[in-house]
Amino acid sequence: MKTNIIRDAQELSNYVRTAKQSGKTIGLVPTMGYLHEGHASLIRAARKQCDVVVVSDFVNPTQFGPKEDYATYPRDEQADLRLVESCGADVLFVPTVETLYPNGQDSTWVEVSKLGTILCGASRPGHFRGVTTVVTKLLWISQADYAFFGEKDYQQLTILRRMVRDLGCPCQIVGMPLVREDDGLALSSRNIHLTAEARNQALSLHRGLECARRAFQEGCRDAQTLIARARDEISSQPLAEIQYIEVADPETLEIFDAEVPARVIMLLAVRVGGVRLIDNMRLDG
Ligand code: AMP
Repeated sequence: MKTNIIRDAQELSNYVRTAKQSGKTIGLVPTMGYLHEGHASLIRAARKQCDVVVVSDFVNPTQFGPKEDYATYPRDEQADLRLVESCGADVLFVPTVETLYPNGQDSTWVEVSKLGTILCGASRPGHFRGVTTVVTKLLWISQADYAFFGEKDYQQLTILRRMVRDLGCPCQIVGMPLVREDDGLALSSRNIHLTAEARNQALSLHRGLECARRAFQEGCRDAQTLIARARDEISSQPLAEIQYIEVADPETLEIFDAEVPARVIMLLAVRVGGVRLIDNMRLDG
């Protein structure tokens, strides 16, 4: 199946309008490109559920801080097109920065309060404002009935669910499970920047989460003990620099610092050899 590349927002709007007029449902899969099996799982889910599948490929500058890796974020449009085509998407939307931000930084912003300031939001101020703003634009342009996001970016998924509810967007957010390599490393476009040594040490993230999960399943309900289990595993790796490890409510992301309830998720962010990685796991799962 051939995937159409569309670069112009108006052209995409026209395309989806025609599809909607004939009663078709639209599924949107927003990505920053350099696609892998994690992205593919979202595209396949959209393919199953929707008549028209639009994948967006846009490295969104407004979700990167000034000292972050916007300039070096990996890009490969031709490889992305091949993957998207193999998953049966109808459209690969590749807008320019000028298309999505016609007034540059002097933009209209969408911001989810509070939820965007904890966890990753604490170490990346403004990050989630960039995410919610660009996803709002993409939802408007694509008129999506369903938008697919991975649980890999669990806080992002939670924030987008809140945003859609708060703004009354006529779109349903669909969350999909985190996809890992066979050895446990969470798939991420940034993994390409890991040296062999850093990649090996990055496996401690998954091992740390598993240690915490085991402790939880053996009856531990103390947040600090659970966090220490993961921290001990990860901090034994010389290249690992922990940004945060927290346990939280899987729906609200309320952070627990003493006793944890029956349903709990552990979330973490760690720089390994200078590459910022995030991961998470349900401890009750
Ligand atoms: P990104 O291109 O990293 O911004 O990710 C685009 C979408 O793919 C987001 O909804 C991510 O949560 C999702 N995604 C990225 N990596 C994975 C993964 N390993 N498993 C599942 N979904 C993922």
